[in-house]
Amino acid sequence: MALIVQKYGGTSVGDAGRIRAVARRVVDTAERGNQVCVVVSAMGHTTDELLGLAASVARLPHPRELDMLLSAGERISMALLAMAVNELGREAVSLTGAQAGVVTDTRHGSARIVDIRAQRLRDTLGRGVIAIVAGFQGVSSEEDETTLGRGGSDMTAVALAAALGAAACEIHTDVEGVFTADPRIVPDARRLRSIAYDEMLELAASGAQVLMTRSVEVARAHGVPLHVRPSWSEGEGTWVREEKGMERPIISGIAHDRSVAKVVIWGVPDRPGIAARVFRPLAEAGLNIDMIVQNVSAEGRTDISFTVPSADLARADPIVAGIREAVGAEGAVTDDDIGTVSLVGAGLRTHPEVNAELFAALADAGINIEIISTSPIRISCVVRRAEVDRAVRQIHDRFALGEESIREEMIPPSARFAS
Ligand code: ADP
Ligand code: ASP
Ligand code: MG
Repeated sequence: MALIVQKYGGTSVGDAGRIRAVARRVVDTAERGNQVCVVVSAMGHTTDELLGLAASVARLPHPRELDMLLSAGERISMALLAMAVNELGREAVSLTGAQAGVVTDTRHGSARIVDIRAQRLRDTLGRGVIAIVAGFQGVSSEEDETTLGRGGSDMTAVALAAALGAAACEIHTDVEGVFTADPRIVPDARRLRSIAYDEMLELAASGAQVLMTRSVEVARAHGVPLHVRPSWSEGEGTWVREEKGMERPIISGIAHDRSVAKVVIWGVPDRPGIAARVFRPLAEAGLNIDMIVQNVSAEGRTDISFTVPSADLARADPIVAGIREAVGAEGAVTDDDIGTVSLVGAGLRTHPEVNAELFAALADAGINIEIISTSPIRISCVVRRAEVDRAVRQIHDRFALGEESIREEMIPPSARFAS
């Protein structure tokens, strides 16, 4: 008998019919002799709707109250799914994050799991009962409801799988698995049979929302293999796991992110310590800064550009104005009309020519690159937001990612490694 954690995302439990279909799948899994712990997201766009409601009564809703509100979304789906499972003649109980023992810190809206007190879950599963846990939520050390950040049900599933020592953590979603690019943008994107944690982490961090970034991090840290699967069919899906000893593809995929904004502070006096003075206030405000670029200085002044999540721009604005003032910069501007396109692959370490080929692909499409940043296995470019989709398709085509796993000879000749 195996213990399996299955997570079902928002679309997969989007209406009563889908909840009944998920119940069937859960019961089938249990009837094959498994202990089943299910994690559910809120139905459809519930979380967005609740956020909209909050915004209609308060300009800056209190974070504690916002979490209280948002955690209601997952309670609805967990109770409905438990009823639907019971209806099929199997015993199921729904559990809130707190009841399932998900203990977090007190950071409302982006709480970190600090402990899983899994005894109640273990007892429930041990009695042959199907446990249905509300994803995305926990209870803080101060006994308040918390939420884990957008997409956080993935995190709940991975954390429970790790704590319970589950044989697998299945992420059931609305696509067939992890693809070489978002299949909604690139119709001929290819499903990956498997992908290493590191590459999946970079794809997720670069905007591929199929898995929450932190959930991949925790899965890697605890060696929890993830199986991303379609919730409506028996499709093979994608395994995310350690690919030890395997030859990894040169390029894994392309990710994009439309939810970032750019900040440029120009005419910054170029003195030792200036970068620290620019970035410390942003860090203290908990803003997630990325893609930092400092130009070479001219006449003792330089320009500093970086990206922030669009959602944080309103918070960043006054801080940036304060920094400009404090360091005596000539000006500062924020731009919310950008997006990023990133190429991820283990082969980037050994194939630097891929960089040039990617830039050429964008140039051929007349797409201007505003900022470039790289890591050993990722290249990211900032482009105009309206150009993001075209940029993704262009790069996907250039490297023929739809065809099959990328091998040396598939890199365009102009970009091939000269040996
Ligand atoms: P869920 O509600 O099941 O958590 P999400 O909407 O969070 O689902 O994530 C699934 C979505 O991720 C897909 O519908 C797809 O549009 C998007 N996506 C982005 N990049 C990829 C990728 N590389 N492979 C698969 N899906 C991707
Ligand atoms: N319902 C939450 C969200 O929309 C969590 C999740 O779906 O994973 O972000
Ligand atoms: Mg999700």
